[in-house]
Amino acid sequence: MPTKTPRKKQARSGLNIPLLRGLCETPGIPGREERVRELIRREVGALFDSVYTDSMGSLICTRKPTVASAGRTAPTRVLIAAHMDEIGFYVRHIDEKGFLWVNPAGGFDTRNLFSRRVLVCTADGDYQGVMNPGGKPIHIASAEDRKKVPEVEEFFVDLGMNPDAVQKKIRIGDTVVMNEPFFEQPEKVVSKALDNRVACYVAIEAVRKIAGARTKGMQHAAEIIVVFTVQEEVGLRGATTAANAVGADIGIGLDTTLACDTPGVPENQRVTRHGDGVAIMLQDSSMIADHRLVDELCSVADKNRIPHQRCILPRGGQDGAAIQRSGPGARTAAVVCGTRYIHTVTESIHKGDLQATVDLLAAWIPTVA
Ligand SMILES: [Zn+2]
Repeated sequence: MPTKTPRKKQARSGLNIPLLRGLCETPGIPGREERVRELIRREVGALFDSVYTDSMGSLICTRKPTVASAGRTAPTRVLIAAHMDEIGFYVRHIDEKGFLWVNPAGGFDTRNLFSRRVLVCTADGDYQGVMNPGGKPIHIASAEDRKKVPEVEEFFVDLGMNPDAVQKKIRIGDTVVMNEPFFEQPEKVVSKALDNRVACYVAIEAVRKIAGARTKGMQHAAEIIVVFTVQEEVGLRGATTAANAVGADIGIGLDTTLACDTPGVPENQRVTRHGDGVAIMLQDSSMIADHRLVDELCSVADKNRIPHQRCILPRGGQDGAAIQRSGPGARTAAVVCGTRYIHTVTESIHKGDLQATVDLLAAWIPTVA
């Protein structure tokens, strides 16, 4: 007999799985994050003193200090950035047979793009399609054909609709996202777009933890500004303008990172390991973290017995870099969650690492003087 979703298990993990599922399954490619933003706006209303959308589309949420800061005239401003966008495509051409040709928004490995279910999002509704590269099925492909890795421009979407209907319903600039369901495994969650809805989830749940607590330990002297940013996957664009507007003293880039503790990757290139806890990034190709801030985060983790690991990502960046270089600069670190099979529809995150990421952020915020 097929087992139903184990409700008890979800409760035991302490994770808000329905929220994470909703975040992951909501489409939002760079520049079209509005559905994700609305979901987040509904979720965070009571947690912040002010919530507004800036002109690029980032959602800027401010929580005022709950206690006075000792010896400071103005509170320390902490900016925590979590990008809302997921990699996807824009429709760039509709041909006379009704096939859609696409332009990527974000970095795709085309080896992961074969035979994908996709959702084409339009002003009048969403349509299910399939994505494949132009070419022959195995029965009639030559040995040479089979070795070829197609370029992203060679992929097209078939909507299973007559060409006239396609012309009427789809416009250039409509968006295409992967369409795969979120699911749970005993220790993991698997989905498309865990990069970076997982960080949106972490920011919401960490602030919820702080806002819900009546204990003295959860009071905070710093002003907390959580920005759910747009267009990270195409170059930290939303974080750049938001960070300049906010003018933070301290920045945290919340994101996913690689967990290549899987077959085919040398041990010394794994970056992080699933199950070892939240990861604190020392360096990636976009920024070098403030080493004092890294030490502060690690000591908060130690003190609260939160499993954590230090990591370095040789290639790749995150929104923290935009905060670090905004205005006169900010002390910045990146708090990241190790993700297997990143930028595929089978992104996988360890539930314990996810909880540790929420716990570290919630434990660290009250320590900022
Ligand atoms: Zn990301």
